[in-house]
Amino acid sequence: MITLDNVTLTYPDGASRLVAVDGVSLTARPGTVTGITGPSGSGKSSLLAIAATLIRPDSGRVMIGDTDASALDAAEATALRRERIGIVFQQSNLIASLTAREQLEVMDHLGGRRSGRRDTAARRARALELLEAVGLAGQADKRPSQLSGGQMQRINIARALMHDPEVLLVDEPTSALDQERGAEIIALIGRLTRERGTATMLVTHDLSHLDALEQSIRVVDGRIAERTTADPAAVSAGAPGHTHRAEPVGSRIAV
Ligand code: ADP
Ligand code: MG
Repeated sequence: MITLDNVTLTYPDGASRLVAVDGVSLTARPGTVTGITGPSGSGKSSLLAIAATLIRPDSGRVMIGDTDASALDAAEATALRRERIGIVFQQSNLIASLTAREQLEVMDHLGGRRSGRRDTAARRARALELLEAVGLAGQADKRPSQLSGGQMQRINIARALMHDPEVLLVDEPTSALDQERGAEIIALIGRLTRERGTATMLVTHDLSHLDALEQSIRVVDGRIAERTTADPAAVSAGAPGHTHRAEPVGSRIAV
């Protein structure tokens, strides 16, 4: 579970400060997706960066489970991120020289863990299991130049799940993809959220095809302009009728 409690973030802007996130409170529960939409420049990426503990908010708290992430120093926040948070950014940042499997395996090395032979075998098995989970079972030995944009985004998602995070944060994963490929990626994030029990926050303009969607917010000028709560029965049961709706099910509250 992740909770943002009344977080505010400003950036320096000439002599004054620009308010990028303005008093946002939001909770994502395990196994559900919280959708975040809003116009460009409205503060969505800033909000995710706060949730990811990459930026400390000016005020407000970030709770990851029972841990107050906003009280941690930089080293502690890095450790928390490596253990408990998975992050998928807009740009794919895969390493050109590595195969799909190696892109995942390298995550553990970055965590500074020493690796015996047994660790290496376990890491390889986990990488292959995750590649299969994202539909890339046959592509483990391919390098980024041999893969499509959609396949690369699947690797990013698999890589973010390597350390079995409680929280998954995904920022506009479909922006470089065509509509069909984009819809597949969104559906994949919904399925993985359910299967792996992550508390997922997903920034995207397209929230259809998402069966674990519990709520969505629309951010305008750093504030929550609209909050939509999905029908709880549909979220927990994964009702098929829930996936293609044009209009949000349940209550829509303008705030
Ligand atoms: P979105 O992801 O919704 O497009 P962002 O969170 O990227 O919005 O940006 C919100 C606002 O903060 C915008 O006005 C943007 O120009 C500004 N901004 C984002 N990052 C920085 C930064 N590092 N320094 C200064 N201003 C920033
Ligand atoms: Mg953004």
